[in-house]
Amino acid sequence: MHELGVLNSMVHTIERIVKEQNITEVSKLVIEVGELSGIVPRYLEQSWPAASYKTFMEKTQLELIVIPGIVKCKGCGRVFNAVYSDLCCPDCKSREMEILEGDDMIIKEIVCC
Ligand SMILES: [Zn+2]
Repeated sequence: MHELGVLNSMVHTIERIVKEQNITEVSKLVIEVGELSGIVPRYLEQSWPAASYKTFMEKTQLELIVIPGIVKCKGCGRVFNAVYSDLCCPDCKSREMEILEGDDMIIKEIVCC
């Protein structure tokens, strides 16, 4: 489980950003997590209390938006959700695909009060 490490570095990044803006409190943090990012949203939620403990974001609410893992089949061109199709094209059964979205994790919004 590398979610805690991911969150730790995210807290440091955000800390640097908000210090530059002279902000001392963040009420809500919105993160977009792609289904193909290798990050498990449930683990992110579980790790958040530990990652934010004794930081300026201890009271920050974490909101996750899960982005579907959409891919395009290199065989027939069909666009589909890779997770629901078990990483296999529902039409031609090819496993060669190009990721269109859902393979990364980004900080969508930092809400300050
Ligand atoms: Zn196909």
